[in-house]
Amino acid sequence: MWKKNGLLDLLIVIFKYFVPKGYKAMTVFPFIFAKNKVCKEDMVLINHERIHIRQQIELLIIPFYLWYGLEFLIHFVRLKDKRKAYRAISFEKEAYGKESDLNYLKKRRFWNFLAFFK
Ligand SMILES: [Zn+2]
Repeated sequence: MWKKNGLLDLLIVIFKYFVPKGYKAMTVFPFIFAKNKVCKEDMVLINHERIHIRQQIELLIIPFYLWYGLEFLIHFVRLKDKRKAYRAISFEKEAYGKESDLNYLKKRRFWNFLAFFK
């Protein structure tokens, strides 16, 4: 659970023009861009984005984006559907699978996104 007025609160920026259509938030380390104020209050959504922050730190940021993009391309070639390809990315499978568990990051193992990689 994140503390209001803590560091994370400062790093969540409301900036709707940056968030792709059909999405509520997007993480570009160290910031979480949220579409609006309601999204910023959404604990499950923020937890999802926090899982991405952890994944990005563990992969030293830039390799995360390369890996993410490569996985997207491979799934897109296979599934021929942008939305399905996005949901098949291991980082997203972990984030969607665990976003409702607000204590997940406290107990999560290092590089645990690999458990969702297949
Ligand atoms: Zn995500």
